[in-house]
Amino acid sequence: LASSTAVFPDVDEFGLLHCRSCVDGGGQGSMPLVYCVPLESRNGSDAAAVAAAEARLRAEFKALVEHEGGPSASRHTAWNPHELAKAADAPAQPSASERRSIMQVVPPAELVATLDEYVVGQAHAKRVLSVAIFNHFQRLAMLETRKSGNSDGGVETVVEKSNVLLVGPTGSGKTLLASKLAQLIDVPFVVADATSLTESGYVGDDVESVLTKLLANCNYDVAAAQRGVVYIDEIDKIAVKAQSRSITRDVSGEGVQQALLKMLEGTQVLVPPSGGRKHPNQEMIPLDTTNILFICGGSFQGLSTLVRDRLGEHAAGQSSSIGFGVPASQLAAGSSGRRASADDEAHAALHLLQHTTSQDLAEFGLIPEMLGRLPIIAPLHELSRDDLVAVLTSPRNALTKQYAQLFSTYSKAGVDLVFDDAALDAVADEAIAGRTGARGLRSILERTLLDAMFEVPSTPGVLVARVSRDAVRGDASVALELADDSKAVA
Ligand code: ADP
Repeated sequence: LASSTAVFPDVDEFGLLHCRSCVDGGGQGSMPLVYCVPLESRNGSDAAAVAAAEARLRAEFKALVEHEGGPSASRHTAWNPHELAKAADAPAQPSASERRSIMQVVPPAELVATLDEYVVGQAHAKRVLSVAIFNHFQRLAMLETRKSGNSDGGVETVVEKSNVLLVGPTGSGKTLLASKLAQLIDVPFVVADATSLTESGYVGDDVESVLTKLLANCNYDVAAAQRGVVYIDEIDKIAVKAQSRSITRDVSGEGVQQALLKMLEGTQVLVPPSGGRKHPNQEMIPLDTTNILFICGGSFQGLSTLVRDRLGEHAAGQSSSIGFGVPASQLAAGSSGRRASADDEAHAALHLLQHTTSQDLAEFGLIPEMLGRLPIIAPLHELSRDDLVAVLTSPRNALTKQYAQLFSTYSKAGVDLVFDDAALDAVADEAIAGRTGARGLRSILERTLLDAMFEVPSTPGVLVARVSRDAVRGDASVALELADDSKAVA
């Protein structure tokens, strides 16, 4: 409870909850499903806050009833007045979301270790993001301490929010990293696409729709949503066109950036609840974005060239030879002069991107105010062939493991799905050729395995389905090994 007085909601014959304190002006109901409602909300002056609290109450109650086996199992009658009184007098327990902000997130090193189980490579980005998330929660904990009056009374240094910008090619794991982190620290998470904001131009509405999704993801728990993580993808697509080319400025790009600015920095947004459930007086849910961590992501194609040119010029100007004025391939080849592999290229590009400054992104078309609100830049490298093979096989939820799981259900004895090493390389090569990074892997596997997934369930006695390089390239079928005579069926 956030307030000193408990609120006792009750259930009507439709299973709807009513806050008796509000309805009766202080009358007490009999159901001890108490909920956090800000004090000022219950005097009727802030209908939206009451509506928001009610939405949370309903969601919580629904979960409770489902958990307990239906409305008849509601604890409506199971509590007597003594217990009620005890509940009302009991010290307030923080809600899950409140506990989240008070407790400390595990240290960055542990976050990275867990991320390693799901995300291949991207060591630098993992490190940057983990530190950012850790510090974000330390900051929230400080605010909490200050709010509860436990600070030592000295001169307070206010730690400002630091949103993060992920820079990396498509399918390199930007969204995956952000979503895994949110999952690990157990906060509401939502992915939004900046390009959908572009379409509507100057959009109060679309900005709010991002937050509607966030709220929906946490059952309209406003307090939880206010500590959530929002990932905004394709942020580079709303870049203002390069200054040199802009006689007519890309006003819509800049307009959207301006609209996002407020949200990123922290503002009170009135969010329309989704789903259209009817509540009296419920039009908008107020949500404060001050403590929401925003992670923006974009591929920023050509950024590494931009950085390289700048560093090259800088190096030339300083007569210093740090190696940046040369093509990435040569840079990676180093003094040995050997021919650089694609892997080296990717790491050289990452090396360059680690030198990305706000100035580079400004040239790319992000307005300075926006960049000011994205002070942490985490570059991701393009996944190499080896990385892609690792994506296929090693994460906990790796794609080949997922398909193997499916095949194991295709017969009583289970069918083993086996990939030759050359087949995995061929899948990775196709993804590289398609320039889709890891994003393209699933569709390549899907296409390769389609016929087998069609045939095996109705073919008795299949023990093994073996995927060869030719099968991936479409030159052969997945080979099926049968139980009785072990005769391979091509
Ligand atoms: P983007 O960088 O375009 O946001 P995503 O994170 O959406 O890429 O990646 C798309 C899919 O590709 C993910 O769901 C995941 O399955 C896979 N993937 C991408 N990068 C990695 C990675 N580094 N490790 C493991 N899987 C990855």
